[in-house]
Amino acid sequence: MKVLGIETSCDETGVAVYDTAGGLSAHAVYSQIALHALYGGVVPELASRDHVRKTLPLIRQTLAEAGLSTTDLDGVAYTAGPGLVGALLVGAGVARALAWSLDVPAIGVHHMEGHLLAPLMDDPVQRNALHAGRQPDPFVALLVSGGHTQLVGVDGIGRYRLLGETLDDAAGEAFDKTAKLMGLPYPGGPQLAAIAQQGRPGAFKFSRPMTDRPGLDFSFSGLKTQVLLAWRASDQAESTRADIARAFEDAVVDTLAIKCARALDATGFRRLVVSGGVGANLRLRAKLKDLAEKRGAVVGFPPPVLCTDNGAMIAFAGALRLQAGQQEDLGVHVTPRWDMSTLPAVELVSA
Ligand code: ATP
Ligand code: MG
Ligand code: FE
Repeated sequence: MKVLGIETSCDETGVAVYDTAGGLSAHAVYSQIALHALYGGVVPELASRDHVRKTLPLIRQTLAEAGLSTTDLDGVAYTAGPGLVGALLVGAGVARALAWSLDVPAIGVHHMEGHLLAPLMDDPVQRNALHAGRQPDPFVALLVSGGHTQLVGVDGIGRYRLLGETLDDAAGEAFDKTAKLMGLPYPGGPQLAAIAQQGRPGAFKFSRPMTDRPGLDFSFSGLKTQVLLAWRASDQAESTRADIARAFEDAVVDTLAIKCARALDATGFRRLVVSGGVGANLRLRAKLKDLAEKRGAVVGFPPPVLCTDNGAMIAFAGALRLQAGQQEDLGVHVTPRWDMSTLPAVELVSA
């Protein structure tokens, strides 16, 4: 089954073709970062208009790269939420119309389910097991992106339990805001992480929020304030910025790791899967790998390009649901706020 995936929930247009027989056929992402940088954040109306401009050219490009035409497609998946309503409607409208014109089913995908399943798509053994009808061993998913920080207990595909989440800023948002207050251009998260490589560990010390009490929730907004105070009181030299960046990164990474360990203990699961943009962070990857090894658990990450927003994860999650017989009616529906635990379970079938 060849499924076209369309992602337009925020500021990236992502398109991909996923083939249940062979994996990812082609994918392309167009980032609107330059467009929004001028404003220091995503401007929803500009995002929608840019998706209108980019979605069809990207579909043509992706199909050409895969050596396919629209008539080869067996289904169309699109991000139906959560996200910006106008941006979502662009992808949903294009996907629904295309599927209707081709007389193939369409499926609306939860963006965070896309992130959550992306690591499984990248592993041929796990991917093939899913398409052969076998559920994965239960695992803990750490979703760390620009808008979410969640620990999810995954009992099966479509069976998600929220174990904990951020009470304020998401981890990626904290990276971006912290970068901004130290004068780095939007979105500063990856740049802050790059600068932190030059920083001296321990030169500054920030707290590990909410690790001194039981529970799996997070809070990152206070860290940002600690950084602001340290930065203002400092000489603001390049090397100081690097030291502060390093201390901030260590605080976030440690906090995430402590809660991941607790989530593994609480569930008894032996597998941790990390996804979302902050999953591209090298120090986080190293720390969680170390943590998992010490506990006899395994940790999986998608490659960095599949951590941030992309159409491939939407095509993959959509393919699993389409294979299980799920599909949308002919309306164009999006759900800007959407709780993942309300998703229907997926009864996997052998292809
Ligand atoms: P959501 O998925 O919650 O709707 P989003 O789609 O905007 O949010 P992603 O595209 O998954 O989020 O990830 C983007 C976020 O990841 C940004 O906040 C960015 O700063 C952060 N990020 C990307 N690379 C790194 C890195 N190497 N270190 C830390 N943060 C990073
Ligand atoms: Mg984004
Ligand atoms: Fe995302």
